[in-house]
Amino acid sequence: MLLDHPLSAGAQCPLTEDQARHLRLVLRLQPGDEVLAFNGRDGEWRGRFVVVGKRGAAVTLGAQTRLPDPDATAGPVLLFAPLKRQATDWVVEKATELGAARLVPVLTRRTIAETVRLDRLAAIAADAAAQCGRLDAPILEAPQLLDVALSQWPKDRPLWFADEAGGRRLAEITPRAGRLAPGLLVGPEGGFEDQERAFLTAMAQVQAFSLGPRILRAETACVAGLALVQSYWTSIGAASCP
Ligand code: SAH
Repeated sequence: MLLDHPLSAGAQCPLTEDQARHLRLVLRLQPGDEVLAFNGRDGEWRGRFVVVGKRGAAVTLGAQTRLPDPDATAGPVLLFAPLKRQATDWVVEKATELGAARLVPVLTRRTIAETVRLDRLAAIAADAAAQCGRLDAPILEAPQLLDVALSQWPKDRPLWFADEAGGRRLAEITPRAGRLAPGLLVGPEGGFEDQERAFLTAMAQVQAFSLGPRILRAETACVAGLALVQSYWTSIGAASCP
């Protein structure tokens, strides 16, 4: 499970109220039961569940079981237009499983989602990270206007723009294997406006590409696009499975 605490042999790491409740009441852990802990920086550690007071809990760490993943922060960055709650939840869960390092909700002209519950999405990402054996959870950014997010995109990092109106086939995109995975931008249910498309395709680091002849749901495009980024991205250790 994801802890917000430095991990080292013998450390007693307090759990949040939600984590304590989940382990005590849902998973019904007993004192001494084993827990595998990670925090995104210190690898994975074997720990023992400890009850603290009436409702609290902690994990007392023993030995390290896996080294930190040097490529954790180099994974894909998903810029996606927030969708209806269930679809956004699903995108966050799947993007975590697909190794996204950072998730950036971008507000485009046709984005319809009003609010993005970052605390809720962070919990979904933490659960998905534990389930798929990641040693970190993706960084969840606060929602940004599309042009603000684009203005901050590094000049030397490819940004793959999933363009429902066309774009080149993946094979035509100049292969640029690099340590940092490309970013992926996916639009809202209503798609991108022509003005947004023109702005995007004028950016040197943006590569518009097609996910095929059919119009995918935005959440489908996020997963399909990330799967392609994963299969395309070559980096030492990036493909290493837990
Ligand atoms: N309502 C729009 C489609 C929006 S689909 C229309 O009918 O044109 C939501 C997002 O998913 C798009 O903005 C795009 O980023 C992505 N997407 C969907 N299908 C795609 C495809 N075939 N190729 C590339 N991107 C696609």
